[in-house]
Amino acid sequence: MMRRDLLGQDMRWDRMKNNSKYTDLEAALRIDCEKCSGLCCVALYCMKTDGFPDNKQAGVPCKHLRADFCCDIHGQLAKKKMRGCLAYDCFGAGQKVSQSSYANENWKTNPEKANEIFQVFMIVFQLHQMAWYLLEASSLVTDKRISAEIEALIAENNQMTALAPAEILQIDLTNYQTGVNQVLKKVSNQLAADSFDKSERKDYFGKNFKRANLNGRNFSMALMIAANLEGCSLTGTNFLGADLRDANIKNTDLRGSVFLTQMQINAARGNAKTKLPSNLCRPGSWD
Ligand code: SF4
Ligand code: SF4
Repeated sequence: MMRRDLLGQDMRWDRMKNNSKYTDLEAALRIDCEKCSGLCCVALYCMKTDGFPDNKQAGVPCKHLRADFCCDIHGQLAKKKMRGCLAYDCFGAGQKVSQSSYANENWKTNPEKANEIFQVFMIVFQLHQMAWYLLEASSLVTDKRISAEIEALIAENNQMTALAPAEILQIDLTNYQTGVNQVLKKVSNQLAADSFDKSERKDYFGKNFKRANLNGRNFSMALMIAANLEGCSLTGTNFLGADLRDANIKNTDLRGSVFLTQMQINAARGNAKTKLPSNLCRPGSWD
């Protein structure tokens, strides 16, 4: 089920190519909707105001999800301004759960297991999201002790996502998440320019940064909805967890920015002149 057109998909992994020991994991974090039972279109709670077709409870299939798990308005998502659908990226959790955790069953063929499948999907989504950040962290960090911590967390992540569904449901996600957050903070602190590291504000809703030099700024977890980043200089700029919905990244070079995700890029407004890190791809909706 390909719900979105993602141009340059093959380029997405160039940035991490040097991380050859993680090639399999890198591939596993790439969405493959054709191998998924449309999990995001069923498992998630959706709001019309967030750019989904309707308000929908978690566990209820979207009215546009077809029997073959394709979206019947796939080609019209941009025209219909379905920003939520266009932005969503499961970090490969959908096909992992559909193909591996539940190889011979799905929420439709086994409705009595549907809620369990959705819970497993939500846990694997969070693990894959953390794996994404850890992979990028591993490619940025130079400190050997931090590298070893990252390596251990990635190994633990791999083990957890390979568990049987019943064991995945028992995972202490909070404990693991705390370890990941701590190591990402160490990496972020190493990256941040000294002058900006300590007292960054976090609310930049609609702020006009046009053509500003934001090199080395730490925007992790910042609210940047509709901020104007057009033409900014963004080398080493940290966007970990920043809310970039409707942020203007037209004519902007983000190739040196760090901790960006496909979901952030999908949610922002770019154009043909936007330059992306090579581990991310250009959303078809920009064209
Ligand atoms: S859960 Fe992921 S793989 Fe499945 S349809 Fe949604 S985006 Fe695609
Ligand atoms: S409109 Fe399509 S992509 Fe969006 S939730 Fe419904 S089925 Fe999924």
